[in-house]
Amino acid sequence: MRVLFLGPPGAGKGTQARELAREWGVPQVATGDMLREQMAAGTALGREAKQFYDRGELVPDDVILRMVDDRVRQPDAANGFLLDGFPRTIAQADGLAAMLQRSGQKLDMVVYFDVSEPELVRRLTGRRLCRKCQTPYHLVSAPPKRDGVCDKCGGELYQRDDDAEATVRNRLAVYERQTSPLLDYYRQRGLLRSVSGEGPVDNVRQSLRDAVGMPR
Ligand SMILES: [Zn+2]
Repeated sequence: MRVLFLGPPGAGKGTQARELAREWGVPQVATGDMLREQMAAGTALGREAKQFYDRGELVPDDVILRMVDDRVRQPDAANGFLLDGFPRTIAQADGLAAMLQRSGQKLDMVVYFDVSEPELVRRLTGRRLCRKCQTPYHLVSAPPKRDGVCDKCGGELYQRDDDAEATVRNRLAVYERQTSPLLDYYRQRGLLRSVSGEGPVDNVRQSLRDAVGMPR
């Protein structure tokens, strides 16, 4: 089972991927997390990626592809993997297909998390962090007991610049422009399934199990 989760920031892919990868006994291959881990660990690939990162440039596709290639060749990925956060462009999708083909593999399915823009904005702008202890909150799904005050340490809650509404709308527009062509790309290849990413987390999870055809 080689599955790719696709969807905008705030769609809840990461949370679902983590849970379902465990349930299905396959590794979650989250390229963003992997890059951060490799940079922190100072591996050869991590050092290479860091040179771009430190200059504020995007890490090139071939570096990310090599990292994914290495990961999906590990023994725990013999029965499949759940890819999350990559590819984001058609060029990356072509690179991924070529890479998998070289090792006699291919994607079995691409699941798109469908969430409306107002809902994404609501989710992404609701995040708050404690200035002192960094505990995350969400105004809708995990609010603090007292407005603007951390439950744990009494610290002040703040909104990261990344989560301000103008920035959020811009991130969503960039995503739409870059990644929505991928929906056609995978639809044409007969791989695309769409799942509603709205509603309770457990319902979304069940829809994902149904889409992938895994038992309850
Ligand atoms: Zn705190």
